[in-house]
Amino acid sequence: MRYSTTMTSRWLIVVLLCIAATFAISPSLHAEELSKTDFVLGTVCTVRLLEGGSKATLDESFSRLRTIEDHMSANRDDTEISQVNAMAGKTPVKVSEDTFYVISKALEYARLTNGAFDPSVGPLVKLWNIGNGDEKVPPTEKILAAKALVDWRQVVLDATTRTVFLKKPGMALDLGAIAKGYAADEIEKILLNHKVKAAVIDLGGNVFVFGSKKDKSPWRIGIQNPESERGEYLGIVSGGQMTVVTSGVYERYFIENGKRYHHIMSTQTGFPVDNDLISVSIVSKSSIDADALSTVLFVLGIEKGMEFLKQFPDTYAIFIDKDHNVYLSPGAGKVFNLQDKSYRYAEK
Ligand code: ADP
Ligand code: MG
Repeated sequence: MRYSTTMTSRWLIVVLLCIAATFAISPSLHAEELSKTDFVLGTVCTVRLLEGGSKATLDESFSRLRTIEDHMSANRDDTEISQVNAMAGKTPVKVSEDTFYVISKALEYARLTNGAFDPSVGPLVKLWNIGNGDEKVPPTEKILAAKALVDWRQVVLDATTRTVFLKKPGMALDLGAIAKGYAADEIEKILLNHKVKAAVIDLGGNVFVFGSKKDKSPWRIGIQNPESERGEYLGIVSGGQMTVVTSGVYERYFIENGKRYHHIMSTQTGFPVDNDLISVSIVSKSSIDADALSTVLFVLGIEKGMEFLKQFPDTYAIFIDKDHNVYLSPGAGKVFNLQDKSYRYAEK
């Protein structure tokens, strides 16, 4: 990959800012290994082919990522999502199959969580604008006005025309909690088509380990230590093909009057979710579900989150709170190993 100087420095800044709470601790880079890293979907994405595949596999993977960004980013004004948002209260907008699918999935989670997870959270995300560098707590009336526009029931999908309509002017979709998970699943399909045997997909900390390694040893994925340098892990998830996705609030936040404000919003209060959690990691086979669930469980908190997870078989959660407690969902102990001695297992 070649970058211009400005691109490189922008890339580096973003590396420092973005959330990369999970990473694969896989074999070191071999000379024959093919790997590509680029800035897509608002984060640094890497695909590493450990066995099988070719440069064409990587090129197809990254062009798929670009297409997903072109369709679903809420941060550019030329995407399908921004068109849907611009037409809020006016007219339905036809979107591609992938955008339609991801919105449907997000709305399903909205229904299951009674709106705690809500893809129409856009007005709140824009108002708080967390991560831009000069944030402050917005005035209460603006928070209330934005919150009033968040309502997944006012998002109308029409499968026959494949259109999306936001009923109220000012409403806005934001798929930031789910799009990267969808993207990882899409790359999985490409790897299958190209008969890849082993690969690691890392989309800004949404990690998917694909296939199995030549020596058949288990994959190892690190969960970032929230208080240490990026790349230092608190524990390790190990096993066969899987995805591990973390929602963490220790990288994108600001502090005002001693209080921490981060990027996962409570649709009830209009403020960032106020609980003691620092991160929630989900281990699953499906990345779109893991991505949605990491945000869902963060919003619901430990007790309600554990209860919610029961409907998802073979899916595990690891909650970390600010007092160094680690809470595991039933069965998570089979795949997760705590490494950092300053953290301890706890139960609610
Ligand atoms: P990240 O993408 O930063 O790794 P998440 O997957 O948890 O972390 O997604 C957080 C993003 O989801 C926010 O930046 C915002 O775009 C969106 N979001 C925030 N609050 C909610 C919510 N209550 N429901 C759905 N999406 C949300
Ligand atoms: Mg998520």
